[in-house]
Amino acid sequence: MKIIAFDYAGRRRLGLVQNEGIRILKDVADIEELIHLPERMQVDTSLPLLAVEQLLLLPVIRPRRNLFCVGWNYRKHFDESIGKREGQGPEALPEVPTFFTKATTTVASAVDDLPLHPELTSKLDWEVELAVVLGRGGRDIPEDQALAHVYGYTVANDISARDLQRAHGAQWFKGKSLDGTCPLGPVLLTADEIADPQALRISCRVNGQTVQSDSTSNQIFPVARLISELSRGMTLLAGDVILTGTPDGIGAARTPPVFLREGDRIESEVEGIGCMHNQVFGALSAATLSNRIASLNCE
Ligand code: MG
Repeated sequence: MKIIAFDYAGRRRLGLVQNEGIRILKDVADIEELIHLPERMQVDTSLPLLAVEQLLLLPVIRPRRNLFCVGWNYRKHFDESIGKREGQGPEALPEVPTFFTKATTTVASAVDDLPLHPELTSKLDWEVELAVVLGRGGRDIPEDQALAHVYGYTVANDISARDLQRAHGAQWFKGKSLDGTCPLGPVLLTADEIADPQALRISCRVNGQTVQSDSTSNQIFPVARLISELSRGMTLLAGDVILTGTPDGIGAARTPPVFLREGDRIESEVEGIGCMHNQVFGALSAATLSNRIASLNCE
């Protein structure tokens, strides 16, 4: 199933994306309710079928705690920034995943305008990622059982302020946690519909130009390993979100470097899940929810 979140008559609601349109679920506002009470996955037949272009999209999930993230999970992405990390990372590939987090207040919808934060950063950069939503928590989860803990998958963009990542010591948290720097969506695709999370095309376009394009088959640590490693001695919770790393093609590693500017249009896509359409605006106050879209895909 493809689950989507939107405003309907002033309330946050979830819906199912079906061929004929969007079916509104009965009295459900959050994916976590469906995770804990699957019997609530019920279409409200008294409400109309909606078209995608009618929807005021909301973030598909509202995480209760920081989003877990992974650095350097595609070989070519690790290699592209060798020598450019200014002492901020290893020169050899790590043997275990590099984990960090983003604040919950970074979350935006798949069509929200994203604030540029020009008063704080001049180096805002893109990172398209496959995001995993856990349906079952646990600790010390064996790798061969880890995918059974996944409720579904969505698309994320781990928008990053490179200058703040460096300015605040060796700790990326501040540069990864500005408001509006984690669009998520447009839908959550339930895990039963993804035969292999390590066989998905993933791409990002900025103003129509492809800047990132790879396959999750090139992840250094596959989704199951990430869940297993993260859960070692540390309890994961149903509803936790894990961003699984970005492919090569980030702006900071280009020659010369390229960073986001006011008005830039970012498309973030994972095959089979969908495409986010975000635009960058100059100041936080410019961020709006005027976000009707014509398609859940890039074309
Ligand atoms: Mg990232």
